[in-house]
Amino acid sequence: MIELKHVSKWYGPVQVLNDCSTRIEKGEVVVVCGPSGSGKSTLIKTINALEPIQQGEIWVDGKAVHDPKTDLPKLRSHVGMVFQHFELFPHLSVTENLTLAQIKVLGRNLDDAKRRGLKMLDRVGLGAHKDKFPGQLSGGQQQRVAIARALSMDPIVMLFDEPTSALDPEMVGEVLDVMVGLAGEGMTMMCVTHEMGFARKVSDRVIFMDVGGKILEDCSTREFFSQPENRQPRTKDFLNKIL
Ligand code: ATP
Ligand code: MG
Repeated sequence: MIELKHVSKWYGPVQVLNDCSTRIEKGEVVVVCGPSGSGKSTLIKTINALEPIQQGEIWVDGKAVHDPKTDLPKLRSHVGMVFQHFELFPHLSVTENLTLAQIKVLGRNLDDAKRRGLKMLDRVGLGAHKDKFPGQLSGGQQQRVAIARALSMDPIVMLFDEPTSALDPEMVGEVLDVMVGLAGEGMTMMCVTHEMGFARKVSDRVIFMDVGGKILEDCSTREFFSQPENRQPRTKDFLNKIL
């Protein structure tokens, strides 16, 4: 479904991704973790070409993301992305937030877009809030709307970049519950998160990145958590700090 082959990226002279290779199969849930500045956000953004790369190849659903000839808007329309800050349009109602891209990008008519959007809103437990504006919702609710908006586009994969790290602790659970549900339904997911409970329970694999943009570990979740003796010293340090 997703394949990265020897991906490297620089900002000016600074290398931020260093020869990163990995594969994510359909239905797999992969957690990306690692210290601040190790390139987690950059890595995830390269997958829908929000960040260009200078070396290597990225394939999503058989399409070459690194190839300038690829229709990136079309590709992006099927790659759901949820960021730390919910990035809803503040001047649009929840329903309008849910329908806008479906209409503009996928060319759906308003009725179809509403039907799909409201179905996804129900699914994240917020059907009753369809006429509100983002400012009238809690952070956790806004993030669930952002997830519903991404799902309304019928994504083939969902990318999450620390979706819960800007939330008050009591709202983290409601967002994680939605993500757990998605994983259970077989959605292909790549999640940058430090929620190790989620990683342990829900993910199939863990990628650990280290400063300089290197993938230091890429292994099954069970191996990552249960065989500390086989982990790199940097990973052990990290796990000791956050577990
Ligand atoms: P965090 O855990 O803090 O979110 P991260 O692992 O997501 O960190 P990135 O945001 O991917 O790390 O950043 C990787 C490196 O790239 C960092 O050294 C950062 O300073 C640098 N960087 C990120 N964006 C830019 C940019 N637009 N211009 C220059 N350097 C950047
Ligand atoms: Mg980041």
